[in-house]
Amino acid sequence: MAKYTGPVCKLCRREGCKLFLKGDRCFSRACAMEKRPVAPGQHGAARKKSTPYSVQLREKQKAKRAYGLLEKQFHMYYEMAEKMRGVTGENMLSLIERRLDNVVYRMGIGSSRAQARQLVNHGHITVNGKKVDIASYLTKAGDVIAVKENKRANAYFTELKESKIANMPKWLTFDPATLTGSIVELPKREDVDLSIAEHMIIELYSK
Ligand code: SF4
Repeated sequence: MAKYTGPVCKLCRREGCKLFLKGDRCFSRACAMEKRPVAPGQHGAARKKSTPYSVQLREKQKAKRAYGLLEKQFHMYYEMAEKMRGVTGENMLSLIERRLDNVVYRMGIGSSRAQARQLVNHGHITVNGKKVDIASYLTKAGDVIAVKENKRANAYFTELKESKIANMPKWLTFDPATLTGSIVELPKREDVDLSIAEHMIIELYSK
């Protein structure tokens, strides 16, 4: 699967907000948004005139980049959400939140979405007892997500067992001691911890 491999801090600077793409570094003083919170490039600090289109575009890019998705995948969630009942923007965010890589990140198993995706791709994660190595796997209410048993002795997971997970979203549970968690219910709009104006993305896509 194609993915963005360029410098990720530039993405935060371009969007003008922290997208939390680098794990612990995002909470430290080394964060590029703390040191240089302007758009990258020679004219990054210059004021640019914004148009309704550019505002919608930036909102879409911000969401896409925060979840580490490329355009085709991101648009696919819009198409899926459009066919569902309810508010398209909220459905779209809920679908993306349910991706296995995002769930692994939100449970605290991975420190960033990129790391969580790698853990999934490398076969460290099971869903309902079966290995799932597809990052886009769509989880559902009642699913049990765990670290694969034969991977638990790995130093990374041994350390994770000792940790305390803060700010667990209410739609998820995770017990570090057993490296197992579950999807309590499907995520709602208020469970999304990113500041995204999803209606602007829908306006952009429905043009
Ligand atoms: Fe963004 Fe994290 Fe880099 Fe800060 S450290 S600019 S939040 S990716």
